[in-house]
Amino acid sequence: MPDTAPSTTDEVLAHNARFAETFAGETLTAPPRRRLLVIACMDARINIERALGLQYGDAHILRNAGGTVTDDVLRSAIVSTNVLGTREIMVINHTGCGMMGCTDAGLREDLAKKHGPADNAPPDFHAFTELDSHVRAQVDILRAHPWVPADTALRGFTYDVETGRLHEVDCG
Ligand SMILES: [Zn+2]
Repeated sequence: MPDTAPSTTDEVLAHNARFAETFAGETLTAPPRRRLLVIACMDARINIERALGLQYGDAHILRNAGGTVTDDVLRSAIVSTNVLGTREIMVINHTGCGMMGCTDAGLREDLAKKHGPADNAPPDFHAFTELDSHVRAQVDILRAHPWVPADTALRGFTYDVETGRLHEVDCG
């Protein structure tokens, strides 16, 4: 039986058409009002804005699988702190993270079985085994980079998906 249900993309496009009808223009500027950069996992259970009390315009929010400071997150963090005025960075990983329950080798094997080989496979999936040490490692990458200003306030946290609570990780 053919699937005749609208795709989620079609549904959100319909929403956007209604959104744009009442969009009155914004007075926000590109630099985040509260000078905060949040780096977090993409996990759909975490509503960063609600959990942290952020309004749009308040902060930069970078999300990927695992809340990992990859080369590209580092690139954006350098732009955020140097060009767009952010002064504080929060790294947020979480309980029950999918990247904690797998290994790079296992993922690679599954994907190759499913799709065949890929010349341009991601060099690293950044799977990890222990939550707090993963957070510390991400903060360390930021702290070690000479282009992240030394006076940036860098702090690391875990988010409990069952309670909604953040716990600070001692990052030295
Ligand atoms: Zn996750």
